[in-house]
Amino acid sequence: MNCPFCDYHDSKVIDSRDVNDGIRRRRQCLSCGSRFTTYERLQPTGLFVVKKDGRREEFSKDKVLTGIRKACEKRPLPTGIVDKLADDIEAELYQQGKAEIPSAVIGDMVMKGLKNLDHIAYIRFASVYRDFTDITVLKQEIDTLVGDEVEASRPSSQLPLLPAEELETVTGKRRRSRR
Ligand SMILES: [Zn+2]
Repeated sequence: MNCPFCDYHDSKVIDSRDVNDGIRRRRQCLSCGSRFTTYERLQPTGLFVVKKDGRREEFSKDKVLTGIRKACEKRPLPTGIVDKLADDIEAELYQQGKAEIPSAVIGDMVMKGLKNLDHIAYIRFASVYRDFTDITVLKQEIDTLVGDEVEASRPSSQLPLLPAEELETVTGKRRRSRR
């Protein structure tokens, strides 16, 4: 590995330690003396996606990411959360340690992730991925989501059911001492 500062071809290792699933090496350039870090990691064996028609293609996180991005277009989501979902899916797939994964499994993982993230994005992705040819199936899916949302928002619309003493600490003056 060439020095990133002067491009010299040789360096010495001044520190070496195990990190997670690899080795981190601190190096010093033998020419300019600059220090830099390298990581040594086992190359994961290829992961193949088996498509509906039986064809196989190498797994690509970028493809997953593109699909998620499309579904999330113009949705008010925090920066980086889409990338994180793709990262999580990739990590989970590699953790399973299989050489082949049916594309449907990946699709389901994306659906599950989007369902927790944003219902509009979820429906967008599902309508393409599940290929809703029947509008009643789509309606059922949306009805389920709306039902979930009503369920989730119900408690906050009511007064908290707390004893008067605890209510005081929530709404009233600052607590004098910690219990
Ligand atoms: Zn150098």
